[in-house]
Amino acid sequence: MRVLDTLTGRHLPLPLSDGPGGKELKLYVCGVTPYDSGHLGHAFTFCVFDVLVRWVESKGIPVRYVQNVTDVDDPLFARARRDGSSWQDLAKREEAAFVQDMTVLGWRAPDVMPRVSDEIQGIRAAAEGLSERGFAYSAADGSLYFEAARYPGFGQLSRRSRRSMLRKLREEELLGRVGPGAKRDWLDFPLWRPSGAGEPSWPSRFGPGRPGWHIECSAMSMRYLGEQVDIHGGGRDLIFSHHESERAQSESLTGCVPFARAWLHTGMVRHDGRKMSKSLGNLVVVKDTLRVASPAAVRLYLLSHRYRRDWEFRWPALARFERLVQRIRGMRGSGRSGSSLAEFRAALDADLDAPRAIRALRRAVASGDRRGVENMLGILAGTAALKPAAG
Ligand code: ZN
Repeated sequence: MRVLDTLTGRHLPLPLSDGPGGKELKLYVCGVTPYDSGHLGHAFTFCVFDVLVRWVESKGIPVRYVQNVTDVDDPLFARARRDGSSWQDLAKREEAAFVQDMTVLGWRAPDVMPRVSDEIQGIRAAAEGLSERGFAYSAADGSLYFEAARYPGFGQLSRRSRRSMLRKLREEELLGRVGPGAKRDWLDFPLWRPSGAGEPSWPSRFGPGRPGWHIECSAMSMRYLGEQVDIHGGGRDLIFSHHESERAQSESLTGCVPFARAWLHTGMVRHDGRKMSKSLGNLVVVKDTLRVASPAAVRLYLLSHRYRRDWEFRWPALARFERLVQRIRGMRGSGRSGSSLAEFRAALDADLDAPRAIRALRRAVASGDRRGVENMLGILAGTAALKPAAG
């Protein structure tokens, strides 16, 4: 199998590690901030990585899969304040709703889903380590900042110029302040920062506060997968600034290069011509789709798009996949086994080409190859394959 690595832009053989029982895949995928996590953009990302996990495991290669939960984060606190609820209750409720959605969509759950609020000790230790090694500095504003200029490859993963990085930081409202008492350069970012009113706060040698955004993933991937991961994944919107910063932190902290042997990024899902987002009011959530289609149809529809590309959600297209699933349910007998399964395997081995795999599935349906269809659905739809539509 080959995968396209975002950093090098090349197709690489699937990177694997030596595990206790032979080769294994160490996979880290950036998870959700549990405050409004049920939209199709998220479901797309996690279904793509679910196919990767299932495909690799079907080859007899164990996967160690870690996906974090960012339950300490600005948008979560803002939402809790607006709703008048505690951030813990909101995070717990939204995390459960997200896991429930993904369970209905038939995912093979990650082996570990660490929460930031449970991992403060390791996160603080990572920040301390970077400070001791001279990659970070304390400022009078109470923050510990990572000094981006100390990491020569900063900007390589996203292929962005300094100007372009600053533009994205401004869009993300992460630019912060430069000057006496604050950070030294616009690209520097907080590893630790003071907490606002009503926000959780933990003691540290840099003063009381909470972690910056990026350091959590460096700390959690190291705790559960070691200094190096085979594949690091997430949505394309995370390449900068999140993954760029994670890479800089992890490699500066451990000296182990590369931190990730391959980076895989999923495209953005648009609706009404724009990226789905809460603020634009054009979100389609998983539950909306399950009112009109079975979980397997939702999965097949999501996976009918090449994973790296952005695409536009369309209701009529979802309905076509519901018809396909109904046709599969109506299949009788064992049928002939054709060449579709070989084509299916070749498709997934070619950087997880799920649209091509779905074409192989359609051919197997057309030729009545029921066993082949079941094999393919087990990978593409996971345990959602057998669930009926909610009606
Ligand atoms: Zn992350």
